[in-house]
Parts: sequence; C-alpha cells; structure tokens
Amino acid sequence: MTTRKGSISVKTNDIFPIIKKWLYSEHDIFIRELVSNACDAITKRSTLARSEGHETPAGKVSILLNKEAKTITISDNGLGMNESEVEKYIAQLAFSGAEEFVQKMKTMGNNTAKDEIIGKFGLGFYSAFMVAAKVEVESLSMQPGSKPTKWTCLGDTEYEFSESTKSEVGTTITLHIAEDSLDFLDKWKFNETLTRYCSFMPYPIGLMDLSNKEATEEIINETTPLWKKDPTTLKDEDYKEFYRKMFPMDPEPLFWLHLNVDHPFTLQGVLFFPKLNQSKPIQENGIQLYSKQVFVSDSVKNIVPDFLGLLKGAIDSVDIPLNVSRSSLQGDPNIKKISNYIIKKVSESLKKLFNSDRERYEKAWEDIGLFVKYGCMQDEKFDEVMRKFVLFKNTDGKLVTLEDYQASVPEAYKEKLKDKYVYFEKNLSDESLRKQLQAEGIQVLETDQYIDPHFMQHCEMKKVGEQTFKFASIDSEIENLLEATDTHADDIKIKDFFKQVLVGDNKEKEMTLDVDVKSLKNASSSAYFKVDEQMKRFQQMTKSMGN
Ligand code: ADP
Ligand code: MG
Repeated sequence: MTTRKGSISVKTNDIFPIIKKWLYSEHDIFIRELVSNACDAITKRSTLARSEGHETPAGKVSILLNKEAKTITISDNGLGMNESEVEKYIAQLAFSGAEEFVQKMKTMGNNTAKDEIIGKFGLGFYSAFMVAAKVEVESLSMQPGSKPTKWTCLGDTEYEFSESTKSEVGTTITLHIAEDSLDFLDKWKFNETLTRYCSFMPYPIGLMDLSNKEATEEIINETTPLWKKDPTTLKDEDYKEFYRKMFPMDPEPLFWLHLNVDHPFTLQGVLFFPKLNQSKPIQENGIQLYSKQVFVSDSVKNIVPDFLGLLKGAIDSVDIPLNVSRSSLQGDPNIKKISNYIIKKVSESLKKLFNSDRERYEKAWEDIGLFVKYGCMQDEKFDEVMRKFVLFKNTDGKLVTLEDYQASVPEAYKEKLKDKYVYFEKNLSDESLRKQLQAEGIQVLETDQYIDPHFMQHCEMKKVGEQTFKFASIDSEIENLLEATDTHADDIKIKDFFKQVLVGDNKEKEMTLDVDVKSLKNASSSAYFKVDEQMKRFQQMTKSMGN
C-alpha cells in the first residue's frame, strides 16, 4: 500500500486543542458544516455536468451512526476530489481560515469575541475536529479517469494519503468520535441537532443508526421548503401545515406573509403572526435565519427590529453575513435594506387585511395589538402606515381606530375634542365617569396599564404627517367635558329663548334657527359667553333695533 505523508502548513501547531477547547459550547455545528459541504458538492457536480451536457444522478447525502465502531460517516455523491484537490482544499485552504481564527482567538480571548469569530470564519470542515479524534476523507472525483484517494488526519498538523477502493463518485467523511463526544453517537441526540440545522437542506439527507439492527434509513429533511415555493401555488393549508411542523406546540397562526425579493438583495421567507398565548410570556427567537436553506441562527437580532421578533417563521438570504447577531451587523447596509423591506411588507399586509377584511383584523387584534403598538413606537415607517390601524375598545365595546373615534364625537364636542382622545384606564378609572360621558354620547377609549401609556405618549410626542394627538384621561377630562355639557344645554336655552322672542308661531322661521344659533356662537367663540350674558346682549340688540 502506498502512502504519502504531508503536514499542514500552519504557524500555530496548537490549532487543534484550540478548536476543541474554545469551540466547545458550539461543537454541534460540525454537523451543519459537513452536511452543507456535502450539499455544496452535489450542487457543484450538477452545475458542472450540466454545463457539459451530462446528466447526474439525483443528489443524496447519507449519514451512518455506528456506536460500536464509534464512527459517524457522512457520504455524498457530489463532485468528489482527487488527491491534489483534497490536499489543496481540505489540508491547506480550509486551514487558512482556521488559522486566522486561532490567531484572533488568542489575541481576543473573551467570550463575545469568540462568538464573533466563530460566526465570521465558520470554521467549515475543521469543525469536525471538535468531536473527532481522527478524520478520514475518502473521495472519488467526477473527472474521468480519476483515482480514488483517502486522507487521514489524527487531529494534529500531520496527515497521510493512502489508497482507496471507493468506486462511486463523491466523498465520504468518517469521524472517529473522541471519548468526550460519544453522546453524538446516540441517534436521538444526533437527530436533534441534524434536524435543527439541516431540515431544509436542498438534497435528501438519510440517517441510519447501525446500532439498531432493524434500522432503516430515514430521510430527515424537506428539500424544498415552503419559502422556496411559488406563493401562487400554495394554499392556506400548506402554510398551516408548515407552521405546525416548525412550531408543533403552537396554536394555528393568525395569518402570514410570503416574502420573495431578488433586488437589490435576495431574500425569501415566510413570516407568521402567531396567536399569542396570553398566559405564556412572549417567545422570542421565533424567526429562523437560513442561508441557502442551511440553518444559520434563530436569533435575528440586528437584522429585524425587536418588534418583528414576535413573528415566527423563516427567512433565507445569502445576503445576510453569517456572523449574525453580532454588533458589527448594525452598520451593514444590506441588513438595513432587508430590515426595511420586511417592515414594509409586514405593515402593508396588515393594512391590506384591515381594508379587505376588517372583521378578521379585529378578531386578530387581541394577539397583534401589542405587536402593532410596539412597532409604531420602534419604527417610524411602520408608524406612518400603522398608527391609523391601531384599535381601541370604545365604551360600546367596539374596536375603533383613532379616526373612528374622532368621527364618533358628537357635533357639540367636536371643537373640544379635536385631535383629542379621552381614555379610560381598565381597572383604574372610575366607571361612573364613563357612564356620564356615555349619556352625552361621548365614547371613551379603553386602555390598559402595560403598553398603552407608552404608546399614547409616543403618539403625543411624534406626529404622523401633520396630525397631532392628545390623550386625556377620563378623570382629568370629565370637568372640561361636562362644562361643555352646559354649552349643549345652553344651546337649547338659547333656542327656546329665540323661539319665544322671535319666532312665535311661525314654523318657517323655526327651520332656520339652527343656523342662527351656530352663527351667533361662532361670532362669540373666542370669548366664551355664558348663556345669560348672551341673552342679555341679544335682548339689548333687539331692543335697540326698536323691536
Ligand atoms: P467552505 O465550505 O466555506 O469552502 P470548508 O472548510 O467547509 O469551507 O470546506 C473547504 C473546501 O473543501 C470546500 O470549499 C470544498 O472545496 C472542499 N470540500 C469540503 N467538503 C467537501 C465534499 N464533501 N465534497 C467535495 N469537496 C469538499
Ligand atoms: Mg463549508
């Protein structure tokens, strides 16, 4: 048997201990890295073959767990590598990233820096050494006339090439699991991680546990996730089913939106408005981030604003750098664009729902209200669209917008309540006050103690367009409004007085009376005339006219 020895040309010979030790907390990402490499290799093969007019067999990744031999084997029928390619891509190139990683790690040291670096370098193939004491790569290249090859590395900088009998094009990677990582050989544990990272990878991934003699291969993924499908071909049930799969413990979502954009960045995704369970705290991290169907993170902090974190679903974009959830993302112009796009889509879809199916919108309000108000406070653009569609319960128990509220104000109070909103604090305000205003036909908006005070304050501080908002609590406003009641009563007094003095029995004159009262009041609107004064004045006027 011919073997050839080589060594990895890195300046840091403690690279392996560092990979193992420092990455311990995230060591399960080796599964993602190796399976995504396998998928990449399959894509490369079919792209190359197609460009030369060949057919390729359907892509497939197979994973074997062998508890007895303490190995995990990942095979693909991708493009494969010949010896010089393995040496170049695996032994040397892959290391340059890892080496840089180690250098940074040494100089930075603390945990935040660690996160940042892992995200940045990804570590790729070398993450295998987080769990394996020995790694073997056997490969046969798709190029005609290639010889299979086997590369073995014991987790230090030395490696060895030997002959291989591999007869199928593709690559098989065998991990000899280290003693401290044997739990990955447990099918349940392995499967959990595998499905977390690989559920939507683009080729079928089969998993077989050899320790179970009856075991058959199980395909663990869905190669075309919902977000990759054409929305016009999808039915409500498809979305609901997808949601059930992703969030099996959740009740049915309220509604959803399908994101699909190619320019100026590429992004696909589906976002669901969950039914919030009032008894449970709001779950964050409901949005999973993918890059080409590879799970990257379930933290989309810094990519979408906090309030969208109440949504659930998946977004897939190659334009989001892998080092997500890191502070460096905040300045990334693509991220800003993506975030704005999502905000716009969400507000547009809510607006559309309000206009097309207000009943459904109102039904969902209990669940989305918090989210919408929070969104208005957090994002100006969202606020511009959505403030109009924030609902409050009025005295009659109906859900109304602020515009609806203004429209409902009785004529006599229009002036006093212009741009003003009287609210009643649930469980705090005095119920009898509400009754008094109700008798006057004045509605009161019901608020609660959690987000509403903040939302109201926000509306007062920030105009939308030219419109101003002033919220007044029923307790502070009642006197002001009941004074207005006097004015209302005054109108009647004035009318009666007019009738008496001017109209007498003349019905025709009575019909123009409303206008007269109004114009009289307008004339004196700046200074408020008490009715008695007005009457006196009027009497004087009419007297002097020689009536
Ligand atoms: P990356 O995937 O970011 O390029 P990796 O460290 O994961 O970095 O892999 C390094 C290189 O090794 C890949 O770019 C590819 O050329 C090669 N490689 C790794 N795994 C395979 C595989 N299963 N089949 C073919 N080539 C592979
Ligand atoms: Mg890779």
